[in-house]
Amino acid sequence: MKKALFIDRDGTINRDCPYCRDPKDLVIYDDAVDIIRNYRESGYLIVIVTNQSGINRGYFTEEQYEEFNRALLSELERRGAKVDAVYHCPHRPDEGCTCRKPGTGLILRAVNDLDIDLGGSIVIGDRDDVDGEMARRLGMQYRILRH
Ligand SMILES: [Mg+2]
Ligand SMILES: [Zn+2]
Repeated sequence: MKKALFIDRDGTINRDCPYCRDPKDLVIYDDAVDIIRNYRESGYLIVIVTNQSGINRGYFTEEQYEEFNRALLSELERRGAKVDAVYHCPHRPDEGCTCRKPGTGLILRAVNDLDIDLGGSIVIGDRDDVDGEMARRLGMQYRILRH
């Protein structure tokens, strides 16, 4: 079993924009790059967990979401901060899914797929009511990263 860094995307790794989808809007925070690189070098898996309700709200498509991600992931990798996996929730709040953060579904899916040691893992995000609350529901360590 491996430890993992579960890290939020918008507002934590990249500058938040309303329903980020255009790679031209991509601005990556240097401190997030350093954090990912440091955890990676300490042997953690790096897993992005992100709410993307803009998909089911019809603001952008899965393909546009993937295109933005590809731009983000390739820039991170270029800077030595390779990401192992990305899990996203496409649902709107009214759909009542279990994966929209602070729901725990994204993390539980990753734990199942990647054989992760939850107790040794950590969540980093910019919103205590979303990322922090998800971590608390799972009894996980949480660190806030705000810009
Ligand atoms: Mg965020
Ligand atoms: Zn969901």
